[in-house]
Amino acid sequence: PTWLEYWTKNKDNIAITTLEKVEKVDDKLANKICIWQGDITTLAIDAIVNAANSSLLGGGGVDGAIHRTAGPNLKRECATLGGCRVGEAKITGGYKLPAKYVIHTVGPQGEKPDNLRECYENSLTLTKENGLRTIAFPCISTGIYGYPQRPAAKVAISTVKKFLLQNEDSIDRVIFCLFLKTDKDIYEELLQKYFGID
Ligand code: ADP
Repeated sequence: PTWLEYWTKNKDNIAITTLEKVEKVDDKLANKICIWQGDITTLAIDAIVNAANSSLLGGGGVDGAIHRTAGPNLKRECATLGGCRVGEAKITGGYKLPAKYVIHTVGPQGEKPDNLRECYENSLTLTKENGLRTIAFPCISTGIYGYPQRPAAKVAISTVKKFLLQNEDSIDRVIFCLFLKTDKDIYEELLQKYFGID
């Protein structure tokens, strides 16, 4: 089966593709990972991840969208955090966002897989440490920071898979929030490769 064949819409009009639809997926991961195309600031879940810059004071792209929707109190809290290094992750409230928390992480500029892996690992660890069960990631570093989309997707998917296998009872669902059709196509193909029978 291809991911596209199982593209469905739930009652909140959120299109999701879940691993439970892929044959012979590892039981432990069934239903825990999905992809969704749209604006991350609309997701009413425990935590959304922000692809921030090291100042944590806002920027363009997904960072700008998150700060615009959350309102000025997000920037106020971010200003107390002392910035964020590449690969590190810090948590704040969600303010006017439907998500309860924002996890800010700073991706590498250009193709640096170790740094990008740290972003995903540290974001998931913070999620676990704070007892949060649902998290959505944007495609960190693949916009303004120029990390090529496909190699970035490989790092994202392999890191999430490894974390979920090693931390079975921590997180219920990881959403890869894909803003661009090109990312949706890449993730559909790679998720089938990483989790399906092909
Ligand atoms: P970076 O500086 O880490 O590259 P960008 O925000 O420039 O961050 O881009 C990261 C990804 O976020 C890109 O795939 C971009 O298309 C996507 N993006 C932009 N706006 C949104 C949004 N509102 N929701 C989800 N993803 C978004």
